[in-house]
Amino acid sequence: MNVFSHPEFDNHEHLSFFCDPETGLKAIVAIHNTSRGPALGGCRMFAYVNDEEAVRDVLRLSRGMTYKSALANLDLGGGKSVIIGDPRTQKSEALLEAMGKHLESLGGQYIAAEDSGTSVPDLKVMGRHTKYVAGIIERTGFDGRLSNGDPSPTTAYGTFIGLKAAVQHKLGREDLTGLKVAIQGVGNVGYRLAHYLKQAGAELWVYDIHHENMQRAVAELGAHAASAEDILFLPVDVIAPCAMGAVINDDTIPHLNATVIAGAANNLLQRPDHDQALKDRGILYAPDFAINAGGIIDVFYEGSNASPDDVRAHVENIGQTLAEIFTRSDSSGIPTGAIANALAEERFRSFNQNRYLAGENHV
Ligand code: NAD
Repeated sequence: MNVFSHPEFDNHEHLSFFCDPETGLKAIVAIHNTSRGPALGGCRMFAYVNDEEAVRDVLRLSRGMTYKSALANLDLGGGKSVIIGDPRTQKSEALLEAMGKHLESLGGQYIAAEDSGTSVPDLKVMGRHTKYVAGIIERTGFDGRLSNGDPSPTTAYGTFIGLKAAVQHKLGREDLTGLKVAIQGVGNVGYRLAHYLKQAGAELWVYDIHHENMQRAVAELGAHAASAEDILFLPVDVIAPCAMGAVINDDTIPHLNATVIAGAANNLLQRPDHDQALKDRGILYAPDFAINAGGIIDVFYEGSNASPDDVRAHVENIGQTLAEIFTRSDSSGIPTGAIANALAEERFRSFNQNRYLAGENHV
């Protein structure tokens, strides 16, 4: 397997492989870039078919975190970790504790948060052996509710703010009354997004493979129930994919009827060139890593002296960042995803230079 010449390597600063035969732990930590600060990113547990898949995933995800944090103006770098194994059958306290010890050995260059296959309680188990875990402190969010550290409510609020910025740019309206929105996936983020939209007067369509989740949105928010086949293709103003990635692809793009895509799901585009394909069809795409940054912003402030209002103000910057992306895209003719990447690079590269100019060592 190639590492330095791996197509996803992209000048990663650090890649480490951990193995603990006693507990069965096999894990990889990738740190893409720390020019803005320590690398923060989720710890994913997944039954990868082979080591190569795990390396590919951790490199891709880690790089994505550098871009997400830089775009959100956070003093954080990008990193990610993966534990190779089925979380339903291979996760144990001993394995999570071993992971905690390995994280501690990195001395804080990388801080882990929950991701698919891991939970807040799992991170707390790792935290018995390291202080380099985040998103685990119970606190009151700016919605006034107590949370166990789960950043989903903040992600949902940021997605709502970003969706409004996209609607304002594309449809020229600030008032969401009567706006038609289709949401794919009404779980932790999607349901709360639906709630914000309902409060703002939007008309909602929802679909979720979990029937109870869909029924909750129908019963509590008056949403229309849609089907798996039609949720992305309804004649609505906005589609908000909040379930899984790669749903914007060669098969779906020709049949989309909405003119705005603004959802929280990561890696919405199956391939980078789908960015241009959306622009060609006149569809405004709010780049996923810009609109769903509420969660990383939330985790960043954990344990700090920031008030819930400070966190809210930072999350609301997502609207300004998206407005800048949309305006640059219009004036340059370059699609929004590419503009978002360029803006993130400006933010982490210029930050790096500024720190060197100030005489600081960046690591
Ligand atoms: P979740 O698991 O709570 O919710 C996802 C929902 O989608 C579930 O209700 C699930 O039943 C449903 N679903 C799964 N497959 C589906 C399908 N094929 N069609 C329709 N519904 C389907 O997850 P979440 O925390 O709400 O995250 C949603 C998305 O947002 C994910 O892509 C996640 O990576 C991304 N995201 C989440 C956060 C966060 O803070 N939770 C932050 C950034 C990005």
